[in-house]
Amino acid sequence: MAKFEYWIGWAPHKPVKAPTLTSLRLPKFGDCAICSARTHPYSLYCPICRGIIRTFHNITEHVTAMQASWDKARRAFICYLTGLALDPSDNTNPLFLTFEHAIPKTPGTLKLAAAFVNMMKSAFSEDEFWLAVKELAHHFQTGETFNKDGVKFAYWKGWSNAQRRAMRARMPEARASRGDKVSYAGK
Ligand SMILES: [Zn+2]
Repeated sequence: MAKFEYWIGWAPHKPVKAPTLTSLRLPKFGDCAICSARTHPYSLYCPICRGIIRTFHNITEHVTAMQASWDKARRAFICYLTGLALDPSDNTNPLFLTFEHAIPKTPGTLKLAAAFVNMMKSAFSEDEFWLAVKELAHHFQTGETFNKDGVKFAYWKGWSNAQRRAMRARMPEARASRGDKVSYAGK
């Protein structure tokens, strides 16, 4: 059972000022264009979907990704890598809904993934991610050497000093020594 002891949550989405849609003359309530729930008044989207997409300037790709990820039967957004149901509202949850480019930094490949999976995938392509996961599992199960050459790491640019500093600052020991009790999770 994963304890997520060092998980401090995903940075909250900050709402941006979206242009109003008054010209569309929407009815007060309808079906959400993403998940079919009842819409926010005069909106195309329900309050939950609206809360997610209103944090992005150009929402087209995000809406498409959310529509593709919505599972009617499970009534949930699904992580495209693991099939786990995502939590759209609590950014402290490791299963928080996050957006992820299936091919790193490539427009048109946006998908939904659980926050912790997103972080694990990092600069992997989807194929590379699974290769690395399976190679690790094989390594642990058999004790054979981890074969890093099997994974291409095509998008891996190395670990920058800034990333190293950021990672160190996130560690609970570092936060305790600073006397922080607040993370951006807002708790
Ligand atoms: Zn919705």
